[in-house]
Amino acid sequence: MAAMSTPHKKTAVVTGASSGIGAATAACLAEKGFDVVMGGRRAGRLEEVAGRSGGRAMTLDVTDAQSVERFVSELDRVDVLVNNAGGAVGMESITEISHNDIAAMWATNVGGLVRMTRSLLPLLEASGNGHVVNIGSIAGFETYPGGGGYTAAKHAVRAITKTLRIELLGKPIRVTEVAPGLVATEFSTVRFRGDAGKAAEVYKGMTPLTPEDVADCVAWAVTRPPHVDIDEIVIRPVDQATATDVARSG
Ligand code: NAP
Repeated sequence: MAAMSTPHKKTAVVTGASSGIGAATAACLAEKGFDVVMGGRRAGRLEEVAGRSGGRAMTLDVTDAQSVERFVSELDRVDVLVNNAGGAVGMESITEISHNDIAAMWATNVGGLVRMTRSLLPLLEASGNGHVVNIGSIAGFETYPGGGGYTAAKHAVRAITKTLRIELLGKPIRVTEVAPGLVATEFSTVRFRGDAGKAAEVYKGMTPLTPEDVADCVAWAVTRPPHVDIDEIVIRPVDQATATDVARSG
């Protein structure tokens, strides 16, 4: 049976809402009055976040066509889609990176984003004021050693976002990219395959962004008047000038 939303409430779908930026965005949008549908693979974690924020948890693997189809079939209204599910795998150089890692990053950050967007466009358009927010990264316009697979995927996210803006011209759908620098989430633990020590090094001696800082940007973009499209927001910690220029104490 289709999950019914409260008629007067706008519905926001957030992918990758079981942790980090997605969880903070889901909570922030729920707080702003959205009916939030939260997707991710870890059902237990999603339920926890949904319990705290008041959203609806539905398991979702954005790399799996059937999972996306099932997820979308449960929705009868979508005003906002936040394509957040993604991340990096490994830090090997281009000469050493495995094709599996490249494929995994591509499948989530790029393929998943396209699949979710394509699947929800009819509902977004039907809402009369749809909004697609893609969580990109400064890796979408910068490069750094060991980041080849991830920066390629996030450059693609940026290209797709810009293409969408042109292809959707004339339809009532806004398109925004939010591109953060360093944010303290599970991102680095995932990237370093569970190595907490290596992950901690990434944020050592500097103050990273919090997931809530990024959620705030998403919430601001989606609550502008319907005729206003926030094309992109780049947000970095004060301690970070580029992907590799980071001020650290100690
Ligand atoms: P995170 O805490 O690791 O969160 C990643 C989220 O993506 C998790 O909720 C994970 O949930 C979900 N996810 C991964 N694969 C998925 C799949 N196949 N299907 C559905 N959900 C999936 O990291 P984060 O920093 O919040 O990352 C969120 C986004 O921000 C990513 O796109 C990342 O590239 C981007 N970003 C992060 C930073 C940073 O410094 N942290 C900077 C710039 C951009 P499940 O494992 O439960 O599926």
